[in-house]
Amino acid sequence: MEEKKKLIALVSGGLDSLLSVMLAKNMGFKIIPVHIETPFNSTCCRDLSLLNSFLKKEGLELINIKVEREYVEIVRHPKYGYGRALNPCIDCRIFFFKIAKYIMDKEGAVGIVTGEVVGQRPKSQNIKAMKIIERESGLEGRVLRPLSGGIMPPTELIKEGLIDPSKLLKIKGRSRKMQIKLARELGLKEIPGSSGGCLLTYVPYARKLEDLFSNDDHYTMEDIYLLKIGRHFRLSKNSKVIVGRNYFENKELEKATGYTKIIPENCNGPVGLFRGDESFLSLAADIVASYCDGDLGIKISLLISGEGKSFRIETSKKDKTLYRKYMVSLK
Ligand code: SF4
Repeated sequence: MEEKKKLIALVSGGLDSLLSVMLAKNMGFKIIPVHIETPFNSTCCRDLSLLNSFLKKEGLELINIKVEREYVEIVRHPKYGYGRALNPCIDCRIFFFKIAKYIMDKEGAVGIVTGEVVGQRPKSQNIKAMKIIERESGLEGRVLRPLSGGIMPPTELIKEGLIDPSKLLKIKGRSRKMQIKLARELGLKEIPGSSGGCLLTYVPYARKLEDLFSNDDHYTMEDIYLLKIGRHFRLSKNSKVIVGRNYFENKELEKATGYTKIIPENCNGPVGLFRGDESFLSLAADIVASYCDGDLGIKISLLISGEGKSFRIETSKKDKTLYRKYMVSLK
């Protein structure tokens, strides 16, 4: 019996990539699903549980690839610019496609399959951008897009007779109606959201990342992960304070290593993280104190610890609106 040709599937956890896996499988390919986890995935855990249970049912094993600094630097200096927030979608897709190509070559696969839909994302999902992405990643003509391939120029995969073009759908635009209808026809019981969730498209988050890029010349991956947590205040170049918003964030902030911790001792209040010029530490302490429980003017004792130091700052609770001008997401 002839062995099935392999395709590498880039799966985000969203509905479109899941449908594409199903369609490519129905075309007779052996699918190797790959998920690329970036520091900017927002809902990956929830979506991946759905994806994982789907793949398990289909007998497919997910390859999860975690990318960090190399990807962050692409976000910082994209060749093709940003979308509506800090999302460098064309550069991001080139990066993802290069990873997929590497696995494709290693596995002896004939191409890759994606859930891209023409016109769904103005920046990266138009035919011109898709061509750039293919060319720059070395995947020209080797991408199967089952959802939109019917309205795109024929690929090498079609010319080589590996794909019947009549099986390619003609979905375009941002509406999800066609995909939801298709999901029902294919028997999908649970329907995931439209994508894996990318924080780079979310303006308040993008402001925090932009602030980090322009003020912290030597950012760490911990700095990047902490952008998902708490209120961030920029006090000066290289000086910032992060204030937890709830119990869970406080617990996460307590685990941070590269910061001085500011913890209220005599009342309920948030965990604060400070880094930067020592002359801003008392301002940072006042900001943390302003989020403590209790009336304005009460005395607050804060334990300052980190980098081998431990001491107290005594202050009084002031109105938190005084510090709004430092809040990064409001700038
Ligand atoms: S939305 Fe985010 S993950 Fe998706 S292509 Fe754009 S930058 Fe990449």
